Amino acid sequence: MFPLRNPFFYVGGGTSRFPHTPLHTLIRTIEAAGVAVAGLCGGVGPELRPGDVVCATVLRREDGPSVEVPGSALLAAALRRHGLRVHVGPMFSAERVLTPAERATLDGVLAVDMESAWLTDAAAGRPLAVLRVVVDGAGRRLADPRIAADGVRALHSLRRSRIVLDEWARAIGPRKVLLAGPRSFCAGVERAIDIVELALAQRGAPIYVRKQIVHNRHVVADLERRGAIFVEELDEVPDGATAVFSAHGVSPDVRRNAGNRALDVIDATCPLVSKVHAEARRFAHEGRTIFLIGHDGHEEVEGTTGEAPDSIRLVQDMNDAERIEAPDPDRVAYLTQTTLAVDETSEIVEVLRARFPALRGPGSDDICYATANRQEAVRKVAHDAGVVLVAGSATSSNSKRLVEVAEREGARAYLVDDETEVDVAWLHGVATVGVTAGASAPERIVDRLVGALAALGPVEVEERTTTHEDVQFKLPKELVS
Ligand code: SF4
Repeated sequence: MFPLRNPFFYVGGGTSRFPHTPLHTLIRTIEAAGVAVAGLCGGVGPELRPGDVVCATVLRREDGPSVEVPGSALLAAALRRHGLRVHVGPMFSAERVLTPAERATLDGVLAVDMESAWLTDAAAGRPLAVLRVVVDGAGRRLADPRIAADGVRALHSLRRSRIVLDEWARAIGPRKVLLAGPRSFCAGVERAIDIVELALAQRGAPIYVRKQIVHNRHVVADLERRGAIFVEELDEVPDGATAVFSAHGVSPDVRRNAGNRALDVIDATCPLVSKVHAEARRFAHEGRTIFLIGHDGHEEVEGTTGEAPDSIRLVQDMNDAERIEAPDPDRVAYLTQTTLAVDETSEIVEVLRARFPALRGPGSDDICYATANRQEAVRKVAHDAGVVLVAGSATSSNSKRLVEVAEREGARAYLVDDETEVDVAWLHGVATVGVTAGASAPERIVDRLVGALAALGPVEVEERTTTHEDVQFKLPKELVS
């Protein structure tokens, strides 16, 4: 049993399984903000090794209902960051030591112990963590001579886990969650995902997608499970197969290549990216040098550059804007990537305009409505939040810009693919957390983030919507019957 630490109470190892013992009474009555149960367990899953940590998501037992343990993801992530091998899943509390054969009958259970399910009853709705370290793997008897060495290994892991339990405990408390609106999928991303789903439904798996359809790990994994195969280039696509171009667009070379291979192509390029391509062709046709403001190596920039490779010069930042030259300063134009930071981009355009008074720009902003709206929404939230969590993948340009916008507003902001990437230490002393999602991140990740915060104490959720979006794009004709 770990020592008592106000205002948190840690208990584990060798306690009684029977309710109404002094220990249960103590847990119920003590004024602790949260309860962490820690101790040893026996492995059931074959992947569990002595010294591995198990964070319970649900506790089952024979004599009563199962107990949910929400928020294990945050705890597990923190343990992994400290170098521990962690498993997350259901545990079973038994009233006696189970034989290896009996453990093997426990379907879907990771590990067994003899107390957690009963002890956690006493948490009585407070934030709860259940962390057990495997002392004997599946199939190992207690009389096995290796058990002593395994025990030492397990106790070592248990001691290391205590630092993490401290971090978890310090993150407990009531919080306000400010949800930025609009957030999550834009019309271009919705359309791109619909295209792959419809292609799978109409043509059957596999469907090949050049590059990530949108820059989000969860979206890609989900479509992969349904039969999409993501490739970097078209030479990985078999002859005659269906190939989808991603929402970020492709250069004319890629289209030509697909045409030469007689691939069944479906184009999921966002219409707002196609608009930038059309502007590039127009300005090039007028004989202008085009300053393309964007990030080197981004697929959208590659696609746009491919429309007029001899006319386009990339401008990545203020430094480039101050130095770039054009053969004829009176015949220049600028275009931008659709997912840039609005404020930074206008500063770059101002510098270009000061240097090239004849500079022409696009008819309407290239930075798309979805990018601009999400940045404005996160700005409002970040103003009142200590920390802002942005759901999105590291490859997502618009999600990364949301982090930067929130930081410029004075908040600490973090880009996370999901709740497993949230560090509980970020939340220490933070009473208000802003949450948003990039245009390629699913709304369900926002729900999961809020759920993880709610597992650390009561949350009051407030939506802060700056504007409503009703943009929709038509599907390509190849998919409309
Ligand atoms: S972020 Fe903008 S340009 Fe990109 S897919 Fe969405 S709507 Fe289209």
